[in-house]
Amino acid sequence: MSNTGNLVSIMDIEFINTTKKNLLYYHLFPRLNRGQKCYVVTANPEIVMKTKEDAEYKGMVQAADYVVPDGAGIVMASKYMKQPIEERIPGFEIMLDLLEFANVQGMSCYFLGAKEYVIEKAVLEVEKKYPNLTIAGYHHGYFSIDDPKVVEQVKVVNPDLVFVALGSPRQEAWITKHMDQFSKGLFMGVGGSFDVLAGEVRRAPNGWIKLNLEWLYRLLKQPFRWRRILKAFEFMARVILKKE
Ligand code: UDP
Repeated sequence: MSNTGNLVSIMDIEFINTTKKNLLYYHLFPRLNRGQKCYVVTANPEIVMKTKEDAEYKGMVQAADYVVPDGAGIVMASKYMKQPIEERIPGFEIMLDLLEFANVQGMSCYFLGAKEYVIEKAVLEVEKKYPNLTIAGYHHGYFSIDDPKVVEQVKVVNPDLVFVALGSPRQEAWITKHMDQFSKGLFMGVGGSFDVLAGEVRRAPNGWIKLNLEWLYRLLKQPFRWRRILKAFEFMARVILKKE
């Protein structure tokens, strides 16, 4: 981790403790303006649990310049541990703010991940909503992490921002494996965000988000995710029982 912000450690993962606005205005936007390389992970309880179970994955998350608290459980845990994190910072919202910034600044973005028809739809939406940013390119997410052709395609267009939607741990693996070959770029794992951008999956209504129930909304809409929710409960149980 190479940022100098206020950090809160939860199960060996150092979360940036700030507001979304400050993260953008004091950290991410200035780095983009300087063309300084940057790697962002937005981590929820499930990701933290995965770092406990997989040392290699833990290294990939710890390598990030910013680990952002995305998940009500992370904020709850921080309060319980008496080192309260200021607010939850949803990855999807940072992505939209970064797209807006790229639009205003005329920066270029690469979109890597999701199913072929989803990424095509998502890119069309980006073109409509952010007409001044440059779409440096896009590629679906069903390829081998080691595939040099995909890395070459991204490298050759030298984008300012690279959004990687391969799910965890694939997205962190792709970024940490290849980021060294780039001279600039903000690299961020964005999970299922392209599905939301494309209108294939709906984000929870604001009322649910405000009540910290976005996870419940996702569970009701996508019941096959129940195993992930169990992980989030295991995370909370470990925090409460101090069995980190
Ligand atoms: N995905 C992908 N390649 C893969 C696996 C997943 O591109 O090999 C995409 C998937 O289509 C979806 C995104 O990764 O758009 C995130 O998937 P998921 O919802 O499982 O991840 P989460 O948001 O929970 O991290």
